Amino acid sequence: ANTLLEISELKMHFHTDKGVVKAVDGVDITVREGEIVGLVGESGCGKSVTSLSVMGLVPQPPGKIAGGSIKFNGKELTTLSAKELQKLRGNEMAMIFQEPMTSLNPVFTIGNQMVEAIRLHKKEVSKQEARALALEALKSVGIARDGVLDEYPHQLSGGMRQRVMIAMAMVCNPKLLIADEPTTALDVTIQAQILDLMRKLNKETNTAILMITHDLGVVAELCERVIVMYAGQVVEEADVRTLFKNPKHPYTAGLLKSIPQLDQRRKRLYSIPGNVPNPRNMPKGCRFAPRCEFAMEVCREKEPELSPIEKNHISRCWLHSEQKEEADRDIVGNT
Ligand code: SF4
Ligand code: MG
Repeated sequence: ANTLLEISELKMHFHTDKGVVKAVDGVDITVREGEIVGLVGESGCGKSVTSLSVMGLVPQPPGKIAGGSIKFNGKELTTLSAKELQKLRGNEMAMIFQEPMTSLNPVFTIGNQMVEAIRLHKKEVSKQEARALALEALKSVGIARDGVLDEYPHQLSGGMRQRVMIAMAMVCNPKLLIADEPTTALDVTIQAQILDLMRKLNKETNTAILMITHDLGVVAELCERVIVMYAGQVVEEADVRTLFKNPKHPYTAGLLKSIPQLDQRRKRLYSIPGNVPNPRNMPKGCRFAPRCEFAMEVCREKEPELSPIEKNHISRCWLHSEQKEEADRDIVGNT
């Protein structure tokens, strides 16, 4: 399939009183048409900021694109005006969030909000027609009762609200749907239903999905390819099966170890020791080194680059880098 979204070397930095926060620091992400890609990492790793940058939703200032590019459907987004970006949003790309309550306006009915969202992008559509489109969209996400249009957000369950948000996101047939932890606030059964729904919509409409989550279970369930981020950078990328079977970066391996297994429900869950680094003060060398049980001398001195492991599998770690010998020699030469 053709490339739909191509983020290259993106840097989104925040200028604060206490210094520069490099929330996204040289990130490369590609999503092809119709593909479902997972973007994984702990909170604060830069995955949300990356996706908000694509949508043009990072307030600048304090945010500032310090480098790189975001190409969507061949168009460079980093230089578009706010108005042009707004036209793309909802039309060609849409986003859903963890808590739909904050994206839905509590004082308007679902119908009002959907009609308005539709007419924002389809100016020629009458209110009557927009209502019909809204109903159709609600049916496609499994909400069949007409009365929902006249209900207020608080009258719906969390799962229903997320379905409404998905319906609103899909109503203009976007090429890309960015979903930021859309099931995190939902209980497990509803979570599975929403993931099913997303898979179904992807099949029917060929809308590509960038699924942002801290939950590798969600990735296993839904995604074809997965990108792991740590401290503002991509540290590993592979197709889902490869990543689960053969994780190469110690951080990915740690994340996989911390997924609860059915038979271990009572045991204490593994968690990666230590904390994510302070983004105002990143460690020298590998950003994971302070938490890594395999850290070597070179890791504390030099930052590893993303390098190929096998076909369609890359990782940012000295353990697997062909440049390691050279880097070792440099360090010895310097001391
Ligand atoms: Fe660990 Fe070194 Fe690999 Fe970083 S580069 S993940 S510290 S082994
Ligand atoms: Mg987030």
